[in-house]
Amino acid sequence: MTLIKNANIILEESILENSALLIDGERIAKIGAEALKADAAQVIDAKGAYVGPGFVDIHVHGGGGAMYYQNPKQAVEHFLAHGETTQMPTLYYNLTPAEFAEAIRTVQAVMKEERYGKIIPGFYMEGPYMNPLYGGNPDRNHWKGEIKKEDYQEILELAGKDALVWAIAPEREGIETFMADAKAANPDTVFTMGHCEASPAQIEAVKHFGLKMMTHCFNATEHPPKRVGTRGVGPDEYCLLDEEMFAELICDSGPIHVPVIWQKILLKMKGIDKIILISDSFVSDTNDHPDCFKYPDLSFDHNGLLSGSKLTMDIACKNFMRHTGATIPEAFKAAALNPAKAVGLGDQIGSIAEGKIANLIFCDADLGIQKIMLHGEII
Ligand SMILES: [Zn+2]
Repeated sequence: MTLIKNANIILEESILENSALLIDGERIAKIGAEALKADAAQVIDAKGAYVGPGFVDIHVHGGGGAMYYQNPKQAVEHFLAHGETTQMPTLYYNLTPAEFAEAIRTVQAVMKEERYGKIIPGFYMEGPYMNPLYGGNPDRNHWKGEIKKEDYQEILELAGKDALVWAIAPEREGIETFMADAKAANPDTVFTMGHCEASPAQIEAVKHFGLKMMTHCFNATEHPPKRVGTRGVGPDEYCLLDEEMFAELICDSGPIHVPVIWQKILLKMKGIDKIILISDSFVSDTNDHPDCFKYPDLSFDHNGLLSGSKLTMDIACKNFMRHTGATIPEAFKAAALNPAKAVGLGDQIGSIAEGKIANLIFCDADLGIQKIMLHGEII
Protein backbone atom coordinates (compact mmCIF):
# COMPACT_ATOMS: atom_id res chain seq x y z
CA MET A 1 0.00 0.00 0.00
CA THR A 2 1.11 3.56 -0.74
CA LEU A 3 0.18 6.59 1.33
CA ILE A 4 0.13 10.01 -0.30
CA LYS A 5 0.20 12.77 2.33
CA ASN A 6 0.22 16.59 2.41
CA ALA A 7 -1.89 16.72 -0.74
CA ASN A 8 -4.66 19.04 -1.90
CA ILE A 9 -6.92 16.38 -3.33
CA ILE A 10 -9.09 17.37 -6.27
CA LEU A 11 -12.40 15.58 -5.78
CA GLU A 12 -15.40 15.64 -8.13
CA GLU A 13 -16.98 18.71 -6.52
CA SER A 14 -14.36 20.19 -4.20
CA ILE A 15 -10.76 20.23 -3.02
CA LEU A 16 -9.83 18.35 0.14
CA GLU A 17 -7.03 20.49 1.50
CA ASN A 18 -3.91 19.16 3.16
CA SER A 19 -5.17 15.61 3.21
CA ALA A 20 -4.16 12.06 2.37
CA LEU A 21 -4.88 9.21 -0.03
CA LEU A 22 -4.25 5.51 0.38
CA ILE A 23 -3.49 3.41 -2.68
CA ASP A 24 -3.84 -0.37 -2.48
CA GLY A 25 -2.17 -1.96 -5.49
CA GLU A 26 -3.73 -0.40 -8.58
CA ARG A 27 -6.71 1.13 -6.82
CA ILE A 28 -7.64 4.04 -4.58
CA ALA A 29 -8.47 2.55 -1.16
CA LYS A 30 -9.10 5.46 1.23
CA ILE A 31 -9.46 9.22 1.02
CA GLY A 32 -8.88 11.68 3.88
CA ALA A 33 -8.07 11.06 7.57
CA GLU A 34 -8.92 7.34 7.26
CA ALA A 35 -5.99 6.93 4.86
CA LEU A 36 -3.50 7.94 7.58
CA LYS A 37 -4.54 5.06 9.85
CA ALA A 38 -3.30 2.38 7.47
CA ASP A 39 0.15 0.81 7.65
CA ALA A 40 1.56 1.75 4.26
CA ALA A 41 4.83 0.33 2.95
CA GLN A 42 5.53 3.42 0.88
CA VAL A 43 4.88 7.09 1.72
CA ILE A 44 4.82 9.89 -0.84
CA ASP A 45 4.98 13.43 0.53
CA ALA A 46 3.07 15.58 -1.97
CA LYS A 47 4.46 18.73 -0.23
CA GLY A 48 1.25 20.68 -0.74
CA ALA A 49 0.79 19.78 -4.39
CA TYR A 50 -2.63 19.34 -5.95
CA VAL A 51 -3.42 15.71 -6.66
CA GLY A 52 -6.11 15.13 -9.28
CA PRO A 53 -7.32 12.33 -11.54
CA GLY A 54 -5.27 11.59 -14.67
CA PHE A 55 -6.64 13.25 -17.77
CA VAL A 56 -8.80 11.26 -20.18
CA ASP A 57 -8.28 12.42 -23.76
CA ILE A 58 -10.86 10.65 -25.88
CA HIS A 59 -10.22 12.56 -29.12
CA VAL A 60 -6.53 12.75 -30.05
CA HIS A 61 -4.88 11.90 -33.36
CA GLY A 62 -1.24 12.17 -32.41
CA GLY A 63 1.45 14.50 -31.14
CA GLY A 64 5.07 14.78 -30.14
CA GLY A 65 5.99 14.24 -33.78
CA ALA A 66 3.96 11.07 -34.40
CA MET A 67 0.42 10.17 -35.31
CA TYR A 68 -0.84 7.15 -33.34
CA TYR A 69 -1.22 5.12 -36.52
CA GLN A 70 2.44 5.73 -37.37
CA ASN A 71 4.14 5.39 -34.02
CA PRO A 72 1.67 4.79 -31.19
CA LYS A 73 4.27 4.59 -28.43
CA GLN A 74 5.85 7.93 -29.31
CA ALA A 75 2.44 9.63 -29.26
CA VAL A 76 1.38 7.94 -26.01
CA GLU A 77 4.56 8.99 -24.18
CA HIS A 78 4.17 12.59 -25.36
CA PHE A 79 0.67 12.91 -23.89
CA LEU A 80 1.45 10.83 -20.81
CA ALA A 81 4.10 13.37 -19.80
CA HIS A 82 1.27 15.92 -19.78
CA GLY A 83 -0.85 13.87 -17.40
CA GLU A 84 -2.98 11.99 -19.96
CA THR A 85 -3.19 8.59 -18.29
CA THR A 86 -6.00 7.55 -20.65
CA GLN A 87 -5.78 8.23 -24.39
CA MET A 88 -8.05 7.13 -27.20
CA PRO A 89 -6.18 7.10 -30.50
CA THR A 90 -8.44 8.79 -33.01
CA LEU A 91 -8.46 7.57 -36.60
CA TYR A 92 -9.58 10.08 -39.17
CA TYR A 93 -11.47 9.62 -42.40
CA ASN A 94 -8.55 10.82 -44.51
CA LEU A 95 -7.22 7.24 -44.30
CA THR A 96 -8.05 4.88 -47.15
CA PRO A 97 -9.88 1.64 -46.23
CA ALA A 98 -6.56 -0.25 -46.35
CA GLU A 99 -4.76 2.43 -44.28
CA PHE A 100 -7.62 2.45 -41.78
CA ALA A 101 -7.30 -1.33 -41.30
CA GLU A 102 -3.52 -1.07 -40.97
CA ALA A 103 -3.85 1.74 -38.41
CA ILE A 104 -6.17 -0.41 -36.28
CA ARG A 105 -3.67 -3.28 -36.35
CA THR A 106 -0.73 -1.02 -35.49
CA VAL A 107 -2.41 0.43 -32.41
CA GLN A 108 -3.88 -2.90 -31.30
CA ALA A 109 -0.40 -4.47 -31.32
CA VAL A 110 0.80 -1.81 -28.88
CA MET A 111 -2.32 -2.15 -26.70
CA LYS A 112 -1.23 -5.72 -25.95
CA GLU A 113 1.83 -4.43 -24.05
CA GLU A 114 1.14 -3.91 -20.36
CA ARG A 115 2.11 -0.22 -20.11
CA TYR A 116 0.14 0.80 -23.21
CA GLY A 117 -2.83 -1.41 -22.46
CA LYS A 118 -3.30 0.58 -19.26
CA ILE A 119 -3.35 3.86 -21.18
CA ILE A 120 -5.30 2.98 -24.36
CA PRO A 121 -8.78 1.56 -23.65
CA GLY A 122 -9.76 1.63 -27.33
CA PHE A 123 -10.35 3.81 -30.37
CA TYR A 124 -12.29 6.93 -31.18
CA MET A 125 -13.20 6.55 -34.83
CA GLU A 126 -13.64 10.00 -36.38
CA GLY A 127 -15.37 8.70 -39.46
CA PRO A 128 -15.27 7.19 -41.89
CA TYR A 129 -18.78 8.40 -42.74
CA MET A 130 -18.68 12.13 -42.17
CA ASN A 131 -20.06 14.83 -44.45
CA PRO A 132 -17.31 15.41 -47.05
CA LEU A 133 -18.17 19.13 -47.09
CA TYR A 134 -16.83 19.73 -43.59
CA GLY A 135 -13.23 19.26 -42.60
CA GLY A 136 -10.70 16.82 -43.90
CA ASN A 137 -8.86 17.05 -47.16
CA PRO A 138 -11.47 16.46 -49.89
CA ASP A 139 -8.80 14.90 -52.14
CA ARG A 140 -8.05 12.35 -49.45
CA ASN A 141 -11.62 11.32 -48.63
CA HIS A 142 -12.15 7.76 -49.81
CA TRP A 143 -15.49 7.43 -48.07
CA LYS A 144 -17.64 9.70 -50.23
CA GLY A 145 -20.64 8.35 -52.13
CA GLU A 146 -22.77 5.38 -51.24
CA ILE A 147 -22.27 3.66 -47.88
CA LYS A 148 -21.51 0.04 -48.67
CA LYS A 149 -21.06 -2.87 -46.31
CA GLU A 150 -18.14 -4.28 -48.29
CA ASP A 151 -16.22 -1.01 -47.72
CA TYR A 152 -16.58 -0.90 -43.94
CA GLN A 153 -16.96 -4.54 -42.92
CA GLU A 154 -13.23 -5.18 -42.50
CA ILE A 155 -12.62 -2.24 -40.17
CA LEU A 156 -15.72 -3.07 -38.11
CA GLU A 157 -14.51 -6.63 -37.64
CA LEU A 158 -10.91 -5.65 -36.93
CA ALA A 159 -11.82 -2.95 -34.41
CA GLY A 160 -14.53 -5.06 -32.75
CA LYS A 161 -14.92 -4.17 -29.07
CA ASP A 162 -11.95 -1.79 -29.26
CA ALA A 163 -14.10 0.75 -31.13
CA LEU A 164 -15.51 2.69 -28.18
CA VAL A 165 -16.73 5.64 -30.24
CA TRP A 166 -17.84 6.11 -33.85
CA ALA A 167 -18.35 9.62 -35.18
CA ILE A 168 -21.00 9.89 -37.87
CA ALA A 169 -22.81 12.50 -39.94
CA PRO A 170 -26.52 11.78 -39.33
CA GLU A 171 -27.49 13.18 -42.73
CA ARG A 172 -25.42 10.65 -44.73
CA GLU A 173 -27.77 8.43 -46.73
CA GLY A 174 -27.62 4.87 -45.45
CA ILE A 175 -25.89 5.75 -42.16
CA GLU A 176 -28.45 3.65 -40.21
CA THR A 177 -27.11 0.42 -41.75
CA PHE A 178 -23.57 1.31 -40.74
CA MET A 179 -24.66 2.27 -37.20
CA ALA A 180 -26.60 -0.99 -36.77
CA ASP A 181 -23.57 -3.00 -37.88
CA ALA A 182 -21.17 -1.01 -35.67
CA LYS A 183 -23.49 -1.60 -32.73
CA ALA A 184 -23.58 -5.33 -33.52
CA ALA A 185 -19.76 -5.45 -33.58
CA ASN A 186 -19.62 -3.72 -30.17
CA PRO A 187 -22.91 -3.37 -28.27
CA ASP A 188 -21.25 -0.88 -25.89
CA THR A 189 -20.10 1.49 -28.61
CA VAL A 190 -21.16 5.13 -28.42
CA PHE A 191 -21.95 7.40 -31.38
CA THR A 192 -21.08 11.05 -31.72
CA MET A 193 -22.08 13.46 -34.50
CA GLY A 194 -19.49 15.59 -36.21
CA HIS A 195 -18.35 17.10 -39.50
CA CYS A 196 -22.00 17.42 -40.41
CA GLU A 197 -24.98 19.68 -41.07
CA ALA A 198 -27.78 17.45 -39.81
CA SER A 199 -31.24 18.80 -39.09
CA PRO A 200 -32.93 18.01 -35.75
CA ALA A 201 -35.14 15.46 -37.54
CA GLN A 202 -32.11 13.71 -39.04
CA ILE A 203 -30.43 13.62 -35.63
CA GLU A 204 -33.53 12.24 -33.94
CA ALA A 205 -33.86 9.53 -36.57
CA VAL A 206 -30.55 7.93 -35.46
CA LYS A 207 -30.52 8.76 -31.74
CA HIS A 208 -31.82 5.35 -30.72
CA PHE A 209 -28.51 3.73 -31.78
CA GLY A 210 -26.84 5.53 -28.87
CA LEU A 211 -25.96 8.96 -30.24
CA LYS A 212 -24.71 10.64 -27.07
CA MET A 213 -22.08 13.17 -28.08
CA MET A 214 -21.27 16.11 -30.27
CA THR A 215 -17.78 16.02 -31.81
CA HIS A 216 -15.83 19.28 -31.28
CA CYS A 217 -18.89 21.48 -30.77
CA PHE A 218 -18.93 24.59 -33.03
CA ASN A 219 -16.22 23.22 -35.33
CA ALA A 220 -16.65 21.65 -38.78
CA THR A 221 -20.44 21.97 -38.73
CA GLU A 222 -23.13 23.91 -40.52
CA HIS A 223 -26.90 23.82 -40.58
CA PRO A 224 -29.21 22.73 -43.37
CA PRO A 225 -30.25 25.43 -45.86
CA LYS A 226 -32.44 28.06 -44.22
CA ARG A 227 -34.60 31.02 -45.17
CA VAL A 228 -32.70 34.26 -45.79
CA GLY A 229 -32.84 36.44 -42.70
CA THR A 230 -33.23 33.56 -40.24
CA ARG A 231 -30.71 31.74 -38.08
CA GLY A 232 -30.18 28.11 -38.98
CA VAL A 233 -30.47 25.17 -36.63
CA GLY A 234 -28.00 22.34 -36.93
CA PRO A 235 -26.15 19.84 -34.76
CA ASP A 236 -24.53 22.43 -32.45
CA GLU A 237 -27.86 24.01 -31.58
CA TYR A 238 -29.42 20.59 -31.11
CA CYS A 239 -26.63 19.60 -28.73
CA LEU A 240 -26.98 22.81 -26.71
CA LEU A 241 -30.60 21.98 -25.96
CA ASP A 242 -30.33 18.21 -25.44
CA GLU A 243 -29.71 17.65 -21.74
CA GLU A 244 -28.31 14.14 -22.16
CA MET A 245 -25.76 14.89 -24.85
CA PHE A 246 -22.07 15.48 -24.11
CA ALA A 247 -20.32 18.31 -25.97
CA GLU A 248 -16.66 18.10 -26.90
CA LEU A 249 -14.72 21.35 -26.73
CA ILE A 250 -11.36 22.19 -28.29
CA CYS A 251 -10.13 24.82 -25.87
CA ASP A 252 -7.05 26.46 -27.36
CA SER A 253 -5.32 29.56 -26.07
CA GLY A 254 -6.40 32.00 -28.83
CA PRO A 255 -9.13 30.99 -28.52
CA ILE A 256 -9.45 30.21 -32.22
CA HIS A 257 -11.56 27.06 -32.44
CA VAL A 258 -14.31 28.30 -30.14
CA PRO A 259 -14.63 32.00 -29.21
CA VAL A 260 -14.98 32.87 -25.51
CA ILE A 261 -18.64 33.86 -25.89
CA TRP A 262 -19.48 30.44 -27.32
CA GLN A 263 -17.51 28.71 -24.57
CA LYS A 264 -19.53 30.60 -21.97
CA ILE A 265 -22.81 29.82 -23.73
CA LEU A 266 -21.81 26.17 -23.88
CA LEU A 267 -21.04 26.10 -20.16
CA LYS A 268 -24.29 27.86 -19.31
CA MET A 269 -26.45 25.66 -21.51
CA LYS A 270 -24.80 22.27 -20.96
CA GLY A 271 -23.58 22.69 -17.39
CA ILE A 272 -20.17 21.48 -16.25
CA ASP A 273 -21.27 17.81 -16.20
CA LYS A 274 -21.72 17.60 -19.97
CA ILE A 275 -18.61 19.33 -21.33
CA ILE A 276 -15.68 17.21 -22.51
CA LEU A 277 -12.33 18.84 -23.11
CA ILE A 278 -10.42 17.19 -25.94
CA SER A 279 -7.01 17.94 -27.39
CA ASP A 280 -7.89 16.93 -30.99
CA SER A 281 -4.10 17.08 -31.35
CA PHE A 282 -2.82 16.40 -34.86
CA VAL A 283 0.60 16.24 -36.46
CA SER A 284 0.37 18.70 -39.34
CA ASP A 285 2.13 18.52 -42.68
CA THR A 286 3.89 21.80 -41.88
CA ASN A 287 5.14 23.86 -38.96
CA ASP A 288 6.15 26.82 -41.11
CA HIS A 289 2.88 28.69 -41.43
CA PRO A 290 3.14 32.06 -39.59
CA ASP A 291 0.09 31.22 -37.45
CA CYS A 292 2.02 28.24 -35.99
CA PHE A 293 4.30 30.72 -34.23
CA LYS A 294 1.45 32.96 -33.13
CA TYR A 295 -0.58 30.10 -31.63
CA PRO A 296 1.79 27.43 -30.27
CA ASP A 297 -1.07 25.12 -29.19
CA LEU A 298 -2.67 25.05 -32.65
CA SER A 299 -1.99 23.15 -35.81
CA PHE A 300 -2.29 24.53 -39.35
CA ASP A 301 -1.87 22.79 -42.70
CA HIS A 302 0.14 24.10 -45.65
CA ASN A 303 -2.87 26.15 -46.79
CA GLY A 304 -2.99 27.88 -43.42
CA LEU A 305 -6.24 26.14 -42.53
CA LEU A 306 -6.86 24.96 -38.98
CA SER A 307 -5.87 21.32 -38.70
CA GLY A 308 -6.71 20.26 -35.16
CA SER A 309 -4.40 21.41 -32.39
CA LYS A 310 -1.12 20.82 -30.66
CA LEU A 311 -2.93 20.91 -27.31
CA THR A 312 -2.35 18.65 -24.37
CA MET A 313 -5.04 18.32 -21.71
CA ASP A 314 -3.11 20.27 -19.03
CA ILE A 315 -3.02 23.29 -21.37
CA ALA A 316 -6.66 22.76 -22.41
CA CYS A 317 -7.66 22.90 -18.72
CA LYS A 318 -5.71 26.10 -18.15
CA ASN A 319 -7.30 27.70 -21.23
CA PHE A 320 -10.78 26.58 -20.13
CA MET A 321 -10.30 28.08 -16.65
CA ARG A 322 -9.03 31.34 -18.11
CA HIS A 323 -11.79 31.66 -20.74
CA THR A 324 -14.80 30.61 -18.66
CA GLY A 325 -13.81 31.15 -15.02
CA ALA A 326 -14.14 27.42 -14.29
CA THR A 327 -12.55 26.22 -11.04
CA ILE A 328 -9.85 23.54 -10.79
CA PRO A 329 -12.34 20.76 -9.86
CA GLU A 330 -14.58 21.87 -12.74
CA ALA A 331 -11.71 21.77 -15.22
CA PHE A 332 -10.74 18.26 -14.03
CA LYS A 333 -14.35 17.16 -14.38
CA ALA A 334 -14.37 18.29 -18.01
CA ALA A 335 -10.96 16.74 -18.67
CA ALA A 336 -11.29 13.44 -16.82
CA LEU A 337 -14.65 12.40 -15.36
CA ASN A 338 -16.99 13.54 -18.14
CA PRO A 339 -15.01 11.94 -20.97
CA ALA A 340 -14.64 8.73 -18.94
CA LYS A 341 -18.42 8.64 -18.37
CA ALA A 342 -19.19 9.39 -22.01
CA VAL A 343 -17.27 6.35 -23.26
CA GLY A 344 -18.49 4.01 -20.51
CA LEU A 345 -15.39 4.05 -18.27
CA GLY A 346 -16.78 6.31 -15.55
CA ASP A 347 -16.90 3.59 -12.90
CA GLN A 348 -13.16 2.82 -13.36
CA ILE A 349 -11.35 6.10 -14.01
CA GLY A 350 -11.87 9.87 -14.25
CA SER A 351 -12.03 10.92 -10.61
CA ILE A 352 -10.52 10.31 -7.20
CA ALA A 353 -12.97 7.93 -5.58
CA GLU A 354 -12.57 4.79 -3.50
CA GLY A 355 -12.30 1.70 -5.69
CA LYS A 356 -11.27 3.52 -8.85
CA ILE A 357 -7.94 2.94 -10.61
CA ALA A 358 -5.16 5.08 -9.12
CA ASN A 359 -4.35 7.23 -12.15
CA LEU A 360 -3.18 10.49 -10.59
CA ILE A 361 -1.53 13.78 -11.48
CA PHE A 362 0.51 15.79 -8.99
CA CYS A 363 0.58 19.43 -10.05
CA ASP A 364 0.90 23.04 -8.87
CA ALA A 365 -1.91 25.61 -8.88
CA ASP A 366 -0.95 26.54 -12.43
CA LEU A 367 -1.40 22.87 -13.47
CA GLY A 368 2.35 22.39 -13.93
CA ILE A 369 2.79 18.60 -13.78
CA GLN A 370 5.16 17.32 -11.08
CA LYS A 371 4.48 13.59 -10.90
CA ILE A 372 2.21 11.05 -12.56
CA MET A 373 0.84 7.85 -11.10
CA LEU A 374 -0.38 5.15 -13.48
CA HIS A 375 -2.32 2.23 -11.99
CA GLY A 376 -0.80 2.88 -8.56
CA GLU A 377 2.79 3.32 -9.71
CA ILE A 378 4.73 6.56 -10.02
CA ILE A 379 6.12 6.64 -13.54
ZN1 LIG B 1 -12.69 16.54 -36.46
